[in-house]
Amino acid sequence: MSEHPITLGDIYRARARIAGVVRRTPLVHSPALTAATGADVHLKLEHHQATGSFKLRGATNAVMALTEDERRQGVVGVSTGNHGRGLAQAAKAAGIPCTICMSKLVPRNKIEAIRALGAEIRIVGNSQDEAEEEARTLAAQGLVMIPPFDHADVIAGQGTVGLEIMEDMPDADTIVVPLSGGGLIAGIALAARTINPAVRVVGVTMDRGAAMHESLKAGRPVAVEEVESLADSLGGGIGLDNQFTFPLVRDLVDRTLLVTENEIADGVRHAYSVERQVVEGGAAVGISALIHRHLTDTGRTVVVMTGNNIDMDLHRRIINGEDVT
Ligand SMILES: *Cc1c(COP(=O)(O)O)cnc(C)c1O
Repeated sequence: MSEHPITLGDIYRARARIAGVVRRTPLVHSPALTAATGADVHLKLEHHQATGSFKLRGATNAVMALTEDERRQGVVGVSTGNHGRGLAQAAKAAGIPCTICMSKLVPRNKIEAIRALGAEIRIVGNSQDEAEEEARTLAAQGLVMIPPFDHADVIAGQGTVGLEIMEDMPDADTIVVPLSGGGLIAGIALAARTINPAVRVVGVTMDRGAAMHESLKAGRPVAVEEVESLADSLGGGIGLDNQFTFPLVRDLVDRTLLVTENEIADGVRHAYSVERQVVEGGAAVGISALIHRHLTDTGRTVVVMTGNNIDMDLHRRIINGEDVT
């Protein structure tokens, strides 16, 4: 694994840097999923992380790695969701300015959630692309752009999830991870498989617009059409100029698989009704894959639950079994 530019050492350094800001999240046994699958299933409750998702880890590590000059300039990101919250909180903890760019289409409650964390919000244009253009302009003026996944410090920060898993369950056979741009799974796979090369790492994403899955099949980063999904946090491309996550996922992840919208809803429902956990669609896909038997014979299994930022009215409708797809 030495051919990759990020190492286990980087992940340990990340952990030391982010320790004061980021929570160590619990790993708990799931008797119900164990009974249902025949595997020995544990849940990594990363949706209990501050700001509601693991994105805080990578963003905090990237912010802490800035030089004095860069800190004075501040950071900029483009996000409507978990990366925006994570970056705003990371910047606030470090006492540096943060600007988050988003389009006019972003709902007010999402804007307010990020503003409440102290970030300056720039609302520009009618698409994510226009918001990104604005962020690039600010970056050209000196702000430091922190991307959501394809960045060495972000990946090393997300990798601290993998360190915690390996400490709590050194004999894990399989780690199941929600997958979008691949920052989380790349960091976890790097940490886990450097410590124990025999551990299997599996990525799960929605079958609507699975950018990394399609890119792996094509052998290079490809663009996919973006479609609305219950797993909104898993949407978006991996970047045609992807530098880090594509090669890491290609080399370290054993398998990627897809789940349907109904399966995602079942995962959210199981998480709530059986495990007593409120998770968003993107965080439930590992459970979906297990209960719908896309994955079998996984042995000692860790399922990573990644976030809890779901509209509570939508959550209620899913729990009630309404058709929300
Ligand atoms: C960002 C995100 C993911 C996917 O992480 P990547 O690093 O982009 O693969 C999964 N779940 C939630 C809740 C997220 O916010």
